[in-house]
Amino acid sequence: MSVNVAEVFGQDVFNEAVMKERLPEITYKQMLKLMDEGGDVTLELADIVAKAMKEWAIEKGATHYTHIFQPYVVSIGAEKHDSFADIPQGGKIENSFSGKDLMMGEPDASSFPSGGLRATCSARGYTAWDVASPAYVKDGILCIPTAFCSYTGDSLDTKTPLLKSVDAVSRAGARFVKMFGNTEAKKVRSYVGPEQEYFIVNREKYLGRPDLVYAGRTLFGAPAPKGQEMEDQYFGPLKTKIAEFMADVDEQLWKLGITVKTQHNEVAPGQHEIAPIFSPSDAALDSNLLVMDVLKSTATKHGLACLLHEKPFAGVNGSGKHNNWSLGTDNGVNLFKPGKEPNKNLQFLCVLACLMEAVKKHSLLLRAAASNAGNDHRLGANEAPPAIISIYMGDQLGEIVDAIVRGVPFDELPCAHVGTLDLGVSTLPVLPKDPTDRNRTSPFAFTGNRFEFRMVASSVSIGDANTVMNSMMAEAFTKACDALEDAEDFEKAAVDYIYKTMKENQDIVFNGDGYSNEWVEEAARRGLPNVKSIVDAIPAYVSDSSVEMFEKLGVMTKRELEARKEIKLEEYAGLINIEARTMVDMASKLYVPAVISFVNRVAASMSTVRTACASADVSAQETILLEASSLLAETQKALDSLKAVLEAAEGAKSYHDTVLPAMIALREPIDRLENIVDKDFWPVPTYGELMFEV
Ligand code: ADP
Ligand code: MG
Repeated sequence: MSVNVAEVFGQDVFNEAVMKERLPEITYKQMLKLMDEGGDVTLELADIVAKAMKEWAIEKGATHYTHIFQPYVVSIGAEKHDSFADIPQGGKIENSFSGKDLMMGEPDASSFPSGGLRATCSARGYTAWDVASPAYVKDGILCIPTAFCSYTGDSLDTKTPLLKSVDAVSRAGARFVKMFGNTEAKKVRSYVGPEQEYFIVNREKYLGRPDLVYAGRTLFGAPAPKGQEMEDQYFGPLKTKIAEFMADVDEQLWKLGITVKTQHNEVAPGQHEIAPIFSPSDAALDSNLLVMDVLKSTATKHGLACLLHEKPFAGVNGSGKHNNWSLGTDNGVNLFKPGKEPNKNLQFLCVLACLMEAVKKHSLLLRAAASNAGNDHRLGANEAPPAIISIYMGDQLGEIVDAIVRGVPFDELPCAHVGTLDLGVSTLPVLPKDPTDRNRTSPFAFTGNRFEFRMVASSVSIGDANTVMNSMMAEAFTKACDALEDAEDFEKAAVDYIYKTMKENQDIVFNGDGYSNEWVEEAARRGLPNVKSIVDAIPAYVSDSSVEMFEKLGVMTKRELEARKEIKLEEYAGLINIEARTMVDMASKLYVPAVISFVNRVAASMSTVRTACASADVSAQETILLEASSLLAETQKALDSLKAVLEAAEGAKSYHDTVLPAMIALREPIDRLENIVDKDFWPVPTYGELMFEV
């Protein structure tokens, strides 16, 4: 069964083509203008659009509509379905969906976290139609992307601040490029291509693991005899079941107008990646959430389960979301493209200087915005970037930045040379070399025409990370404009600005191995923060530099930032609480009883054998019995301690400092028992079964 992309692409989306066909010409033009420039939506316009949208959706088989929104923290979009059916009149029901229904919704959303922005008694939250993001039909429901805010207008979602940051970087960016002679650009857009990593396991096995079901990750589990040592899964051939699943995912995403391009295996067994072609960052946010949603529902349909958690299995790679990000003007100039002679490209070098300043200044905020509890297991382990933020420039740019920092005069800067790759076989072509090598150990890496922020957690919304990146660049551009706009000799002033800024922020650049211990020491010498836990990174939301930046740009208020901090801390405590309770439950009801049965059997064997033959050697049974009994006792002790600290825990910090270590202490003896106890007694599927048998 193969599907022609061109035929199905976007068929379930109320996109420009559909609007052109179904809306009166004047309304269509008004919509295009609104989508591009923003502005107030009139009820009159909404009524016309709603009517066309309803008819289109019903033809597609929709019976309900919903406002899709992205409450802060809950990473997969929330929805509340309303039927098109109106109140019956004279025994007949009309399909109804008005402009008002399209424009505004009021979900009873009192249970979503609000960080104090909205007391339960005044739980009103509103959703407002996001005109720029097209509506679509999915599973018989017309879905309308919206922004979500409180009665007082505070944003309660990840989308609204992102949209505001997009505006901020657009304004500041247009002002910035104008200084360099680009007077035609009216806007600078931010583009994102998020690569999404995930694991696939067999659904029945998944359901046999309460830890996967409740916490999304394994909380126990001895390593399988084979891990990822051979790296033979990376780009390896796809198993039939996985290939069918991926084909189904592709088809659904194409219909929803999402351009998924690559799907391949990742390093860890059972791990895969999906990447769409990049799009404006707000659209990328919407489509990434849809990608996650479709991955999960399609896996279920195929008898599989999709794990989006950052670290489903200890000992093998975790999952991230490589956030490829760039800025480009509306007249086609990518600000991160070095061009043939980056050493002479004043605008590019100034962008780079601004970026260095921005990343250095807001590194902790970046760290906080990209992470969650799950990411703490990942940062710094295996293939994940370290918890220290630094920028990787690659050899060519690295050489130029280095020369600037050393004070080499502008006209003597080295000309970075884009080389070719000659494979030395006459029948093979000589390939142009990428302007950067791959440095997978860097959290913020230049990759030729974009930066790849690799710290983002696989299960979180990309909204926060991109809100921070757009905002920090808007701030740095504005600072550069303030300094340079009125300069008498612009070129000289710009060169001086680049030199000064790069020199001041050179510490943020690191081109070496980010996984090495030397880097940890070197980063400490440079004074770069190395914050291992998200709990210590979260306060960066309300640091003076964050509040000042966001308020000045109109992206978020101090109140909203305080709320976000509270929500994040609450979420952390909540997640660890669930994990700990799941562990207590599994240990008490599954592992301890299983080990008791096993120990009983070994003891019974000893006495049976001895009775049958008094001189028989039962030392093997005895060794096993002793070891299993002592680990069982250790387990019971660790279980009691975990229960005690869990009882006493309150707030994110105590969950981090006391509950997490108690969880690790409980896991340890149980994982060792797994290697001793008879397989038939073991109550849950093993790592090997989960990772290698779909
Ligand atoms: P790799 O796995 O080698 O890093 P992929 O092709 O899997 O690369 O993913 C790269 C991602 O970067 C894709 O989503 C791609 O669309 C996106 N991308 C490419 N160019 C840009 C750009 N200028 N700005 C933002 N994203 C980009
Ligand atoms: Mg990649």
